[in-house]
Amino acid sequence: MKNKHKKIVQFAHPYRIKEGDKFRLKDIEPGDTGKLKSEKEAKELLADGVKLMSEMQEKLYAQDRWSLLLVFQAMDAAGKDGTIKHVLSGINPQGCDVHSFKSPSAIELSHGYLWRSSLVMPERGRIGIFNRSYYEEVLVVRVHREMLAAEKIPAPLVTKDIWSERFQDINAYERYLSRNGTVIRKFFLHLSKAEQKRRFLARLNEPSKNWKFSGSDLKERAYWDEYMGAYEEAIRETSTKAAPWYVVPADNKWFTWLVVAAVIVETLDSLGLSYPKVTPAQQEILDHARNVLR
Ligand code: ATP
Ligand code: MG
Repeated sequence: MKNKHKKIVQFAHPYRIKEGDKFRLKDIEPGDTGKLKSEKEAKELLADGVKLMSEMQEKLYAQDRWSLLLVFQAMDAAGKDGTIKHVLSGINPQGCDVHSFKSPSAIELSHGYLWRSSLVMPERGRIGIFNRSYYEEVLVVRVHREMLAAEKIPAPLVTKDIWSERFQDINAYERYLSRNGTVIRKFFLHLSKAEQKRRFLARLNEPSKNWKFSGSDLKERAYWDEYMGAYEEAIRETSTKAAPWYVVPADNKWFTWLVVAAVIVETLDSLGLSYPKVTPAQQEILDHARNVLR
């Protein structure tokens, strides 16, 4: 691993939730900035990270074997959109797809809850970004139980075990994906309630940010503790070796971006990507083409 890689990837490790951890959300401070003193330092490292990422993505695409799925979950105003924009700014748009998951449509509700995700899983060679995901099924749906009724699951199948069953099924699904070559990394952008208030106020007070505010944001804030409980359990139960969660401090955007970039650089690096080797048959075609090209 080259020096620049090393410098960046050290920001990934502290936030990875290891399998079997007795994970508690309070173990990670939303305001943490590692050992970094300044935003400037973070931005320089981020720029290096973006460059490394873009080089490795080219190979991922050329090789056409692995795919990478990045899942982003967070409370409102935690910065999912900005993180996706800044961290993935160096990625070739042709090799990358972003999907935002909203409340399910009627047709989506007529299928199992993993169906709509399966339709948009990244193809080999590509990076798929989920802005929210099937995890909403153990988060918002758990906090607002009435949403479960809309899913039309046969009554005998809806028991008190439904959430632990969903954790099992999600783990199995992710294991299946990973065994087929989809590398999965999941991010919870961990924002404090006080910082969310500051960001909501900015959205209310600054005209250029007004459009970002929605009445439902306040409604969900009222369920903060319920959400934190649901996140904590979901992360604990579904952080696996194949598909780990990273709980990323989110009160300082520049630090969030750096940690997410670090995870992606480390992950791509671990795949040992390279351009496909030219076979003798292909070499012959190349040689011939060079000769006849006028
Ligand atoms: P932003 O507010 O930054 O535009 P967002 O991700 O919050 O982004 P919204 O349109 O505000 O987008 O919200 C999408 C809503 O859809 C969220 O409240 C989310 O909880 C909800 N949602 C997503 N998936 C599901 C699901 N499977 N079941 C029920 N609700 C869902
Ligand atoms: Mg929203």
